[in-house]
Amino acid sequence: MAIFAINMSGACNGVSKLHGEVARKMWNYLWPEVPEIEVPIGHITNGVHLPTWISEDMAELINRYVGPKWHDTPAEESVWNRVQQIPDEELWRTHERRRERLVSFTRQRLRTQLENSGARPEDIEIADEVLDPQALTIGFARRFASYKRAKLILQDFERLNALLNNKDFPVQIIFAGKAHPKDNIGKSIIRDIVNIIRREEFRRRIVFIEDYDMEIASNLVRGVDVWLNTPIRPREASGTSGMKASLNGVLNVSILDGWWDEAYRNTVGWAIGRGEEFENPEEQDVFEVEALYSLLEQEVVPAFYNRSSNNLPREWIRMMKNSIQYLSPVFNTNRMVREYHEMYYQPALHNWQTMSKEQMQMARTLAKWKERIYHNWPKVHITQVHSKDGDEIKVGGQIRIQAQVDSDGLKTDEIRVEVFYGPIDSDDYITYGNKAVMQLQQQLKKNSYLYEAVIPCEATGQHAYSVRVLPDHPDIINPYETGLITWYRE
Ligand SMILES: *Cc1c(COP(=O)(O)O)cnc(C)c1O
Repeated sequence: MAIFAINMSGACNGVSKLHGEVARKMWNYLWPEVPEIEVPIGHITNGVHLPTWISEDMAELINRYVGPKWHDTPAEESVWNRVQQIPDEELWRTHERRRERLVSFTRQRLRTQLENSGARPEDIEIADEVLDPQALTIGFARRFASYKRAKLILQDFERLNALLNNKDFPVQIIFAGKAHPKDNIGKSIIRDIVNIIRREEFRRRIVFIEDYDMEIASNLVRGVDVWLNTPIRPREASGTSGMKASLNGVLNVSILDGWWDEAYRNTVGWAIGRGEEFENPEEQDVFEVEALYSLLEQEVVPAFYNRSSNNLPREWIRMMKNSIQYLSPVFNTNRMVREYHEMYYQPALHNWQTMSKEQMQMARTLAKWKERIYHNWPKVHITQVHSKDGDEIKVGGQIRIQAQVDSDGLKTDEIRVEVFYGPIDSDDYITYGNKAVMQLQQQLKKNSYLYEAVIPCEATGQHAYSVRVLPDHPDIINPYETGLITWYRE
């Protein structure tokens, strides 16, 4: 279905920068002659609708100190500058209130869950004892697809116990999730978590809320201190719950995957690892379990409990403000919809209007042109490529490349001759290449032409270039639409 959809679409995009890269790699084989970097799949990073996900308390605080502009132009960075002027005390008390509310919401949900499951009265009572309204609270809520690795933080009972039950610096975790009734793996993950939580040392510190929905999500993303995400990179296309958390001043602790790979810097939250990708998934788990616990032990917990004289975690509050100031203007739906409009919808509409005019006149013409191009393309050849500038060029210098192209049956304005050039990797591939259009110099004989381009030499190291011919027409959506490319082969 994905291939069908890609082939039937005028344009395709991933939903984060990293997802764009992954998608170009994954689907490169649909454009076999096109270098990966040029596969026509772009990206527009997802965003969340701020008024839906920002808590009322926080919205009020932002209205008061930042002004009402964030409602109308949230994608304007300068609108958010004054977040820094919210007094520490006020921001922290607001956040603490929401944590307290989340704790009572969670207790109520747990009580209902226990009652509905027919638990014994003495077991239902625990619902009033779970969680501590003052403790560092970690939230983890999402669909329980296995790549999301919900159990990662539960891997090492000893270290987990030390974190959760530290007398002075306690930590607690609220899980929420659901699995599709036919998703056996998802259901088994939930069963495992529920079993682990039953352990005596965990049952007051970890809660699982069933039937994850938007109501639960909105309570969690505004009431916890830390939003945890532990997917296997690069399988999280974007992720949006972390965005919901960030604009409420909830700090993300996440694998560098999806949106977090482009949002992360050390002033707004934490990264688990550095975006490593292991061949062996077990090795990856081991490495990231270690990275996660170390991060919590050495950075997250100390930052949360490092209090000033009036019991304020100044460093933490600074990060909360940074998270709101720097992430809100980017990861919102206003910015996202504008990008879709400008990069995809508007050009698609324009294209439709052009094509459909006068009983589809342009579409008919283009279809005829394509037919002719497909028919004549086997006669396109690059017969010679050369440069007189030698193999060694100094940085800052340039190299003049000439190519001889035979294009029997096609006019010179129906083809485009390009040089593709750049540094080569260890497999002799030009992974990050640039292209330059070669100019027609002269006709050499019948149907045979000389083209030329001058390309700059901008960096040291081994570089390469190659020449290619593509069909060219003002009405094709992208140069690879026909799938036809002829590369020079010696
Ligand atoms: C935001 C949200 C999601 C998506 O969260 P991800 O981080 O993208 O997995 C799923 N379910 C609910 C109820 C949500 O609110």
